Amino acid sequence: MAKKKKKIKLPELGPGSILVDSHCHLDFPDYAADQEEVIAAAVKAGVTRMITIGIDYRTSAAAVALAAEYESVYAAVGIHPHHAAEMSDDDLSAIVGLAKSPEVVAYGEVGIDMVKNYAPLEVQKEKFSRQVALAKELELPLIIHDREAHAEILAILQKEAPFPAKGVIHCFSGNLDIASRFMELGFYISIPGVVTFNKAEELQEAARRIPLESLLVETDAPFLAPVPRRGRRNEPAYVLYTAQKVAELKGITLDEVAGTTTANVEKLFHLTKQL
Ligand SMILES: [Zn+2]
Ligand SMILES: [Zn+2]
Repeated sequence: MAKKKKKIKLPELGPGSILVDSHCHLDFPDYAADQEEVIAAAVKAGVTRMITIGIDYRTSAAAVALAAEYESVYAAVGIHPHHAAEMSDDDLSAIVGLAKSPEVVAYGEVGIDMVKNYAPLEVQKEKFSRQVALAKELELPLIIHDREAHAEILAILQKEAPFPAKGVIHCFSGNLDIASRFMELGFYISIPGVVTFNKAEELQEAARRIPLESLLVETDAPFLAPVPRRGRRNEPAYVLYTAQKVAELKGITLDEVAGTTTANVEKLFHLTKQL
């Protein structure tokens, strides 16, 4: 007799409880075959809203189109540091045009990535500064990508402060001290699925100690699937594993994490759709 395949169950939210995936990339080819099912599965699991993020002009336009198509999806537009070298002034004007669409709730993702270094650091810094200034002009919250570039990003943000529309450090990878400095500038800290990995002790410690009122949770799908889905394609529903881990670390319930992080993300991105 064939063995039944063990089904991995998602953590379950209590009645009336919902969660938001504050960062995913739903236009990526990984979802070409089942995008609609992936979004429906998230909504069914209680992840009723998700923010899909652009990384250049083309993907930003795709994010806006997705948000126009799906009630549960909102968009952010911007040029990622990986694309800083090829970013032209025309691209920037086009992004500003997109940013004015009603589906757009944030500017990003923008930042500095010193792991991949696809563009020279000076170019990344310059493109990041310009987009930080643009986000301020547009009065949009910022979604910041920071990979091994805490000091560089903090320096630019300190120069451009204050940030009345605030922002979030997505896929946070620093320690508690770095988190505090971003929080002082009005930024939320978004915890990715990496927090479920055994060796992520520093991030776990940060998630334990950062006040829940300053936290968001995210998937960064299709990347970085949390345990027990690690190594496979990530999707918005899996933000439940991340929220569950944050609850465990803080010694509170999943519904408490869902309630406060949802309120945080609603406040930051001014989410208005009633779901
Ligand atoms: Zn990123
Ligand atoms: Zn991303």
